[in-house]
Amino acid sequence: MKEYGESYAVRARTIVPMTNEKAARGKDLFEPISSIDNGVLLVHKNYVVACGKKKDLELPKGLIVHDLGDVSLIPGVINCHAHIDISHLAGKTQWGAGFSAWLTSLIPLCPRHEPEDTREIDAAREKALAQCAMKGTACIGSIASPSLRTLAALENLANKKGIRLIHLCEAFGQKINALATVVDDMHKECPNALLSAAGHALYSTTGETLKAASRIAASFNRRMSLHLAESPEEVDMLTSGRGELYEIFTHGVLPPSWTVPKMRPVPLANSLGLLSNLLAVHCVHVSEDEAELLAAMDVAVCLCPRSNANLACGTARVETFIEKGILLCLGTDGLTSSPDLDVIQEACFLKKTKDLPANALLRMLTVNGAYALGLPLAMGRLAPGSPARFALLPSCLELKLSPR
Ligand SMILES: [Zn+2]
Repeated sequence: MKEYGESYAVRARTIVPMTNEKAARGKDLFEPISSIDNGVLLVHKNYVVACGKKKDLELPKGLIVHDLGDVSLIPGVINCHAHIDISHLAGKTQWGAGFSAWLTSLIPLCPRHEPEDTREIDAAREKALAQCAMKGTACIGSIASPSLRTLAALENLANKKGIRLIHLCEAFGQKINALATVVDDMHKECPNALLSAAGHALYSTTGETLKAASRIAASFNRRMSLHLAESPEEVDMLTSGRGELYEIFTHGVLPPSWTVPKMRPVPLANSLGLLSNLLAVHCVHVSEDEAELLAAMDVAVCLCPRSNANLACGTARVETFIEKGILLCLGTDGLTSSPDLDVIQEACFLKKTKDLPANALLRMLTVNGAYALGLPLAMGRLAPGSPARFALLPSCLELKLSPR
C-alpha cells in the first residue's frame, strides 16, 4: 500500500466496505456482500472519514483523488496468526517431510535467550512487516515469546508500518510467571498496545500453564491462541505417548510428572477448560464430533492452509467447520512454514484447493478475523473511524456482490 499524505481520497471501480457486515458463520458466509460502484474513500490523518459513491460525496476543494482504476478495494485484511518475531529464520527449516522433521530442523535455530545484538533479527522483522503493509494487512495476531524487548520492538516496527498488532504472548513448557510479568510490563511500557496471551500447544506446555495463559487472555477480554490438532504426530503423542514429539518435549520441556493424557487434542483442550475463549490455530486433525464441540463452545478456528501443506500436516475439514457453524478466520503462520505473510494468499489457496466461495473467504479475511482477535468494531471494515488500510481484491476471488 502506498503512503499518500495527511488528507487524500482514493477512487476505485468498486469498493467493498464491509460496513454492515458482522462476523459470519455457516450459510451466512455465502451471502452477497454490499458494494459501491465508482466508489471513493476519503481519508484524514490515517483514518477513513467517508466512503461512498463518487457522485454522492462532497470532497474538500483541492483534495487529491488517487484513481486506482479498474480494481476492487477491500478493507485492510486481518492475519490472525503469524510469528513475525522469528522472520529471520525464513528458508532455514525443512518442509515436506512432516511436522516432526520440520520441528527438529527449527529447534536448534531458536536460542533460549534473545542475543544482545538483535539488528539482524529486527531487520528481518521490519522487512516482513513492510511486505504485510504492502499487501494491505491491517492487523496481525502476533505470536511472540514473553520478552518485553521483543514485544516492544515488534510494536514499534508495526506502528511505523501502520499495522496494528495483537500481541499474543506465548507460554511454552511449564513456566507462566515470566508471561504474566511481561504482559504486565508491556501494558505499562506501551499502554496503547493490544495484548492477549497464547499457549504454544498441548504437547509442549502443561495444562496448568495453558489455563493460566487462558486467564490472562480473558483478563484482556480476548481469546487465547493455541496451536491445536495441527499434525498426526500431535494426536499420536497425546493419545499414546508415541513418536518424536514425545521424545522432544518430555526431555526437559515438560516436567517429569507429565503423563500421557490418552486423549485427542480437542477433547483434551475441553477437559482443561480451554475452549471457552479460544482461538484454535490449524485444527487439521478434528473429527466431526469434535467440530461440533468447537462450534458449541464458540471456538474461533484460524486456518493456515499453506503452512499445513508445506509441512505435510494434512488438510483441515473446512466444509465440515462451515456446516457446523464454526467461526473461521485465516492466518499465514510464520516464515519458517510459509513463503510469505500475505494472508490473502491463504484465501486464494483455499479457493484453489477447496473451491470455497470468495464471499466466505473475504469475510474470513476481514470481519471474522477482527471478531476472532477481539478488535475494535471499525477494524476489518472501511467505515468512518476505520484505519485507512485497504487491500486490492485479488483476481482469484470473484465476489457475489449487491451494488448499492
Ligand atoms: Zn504458529
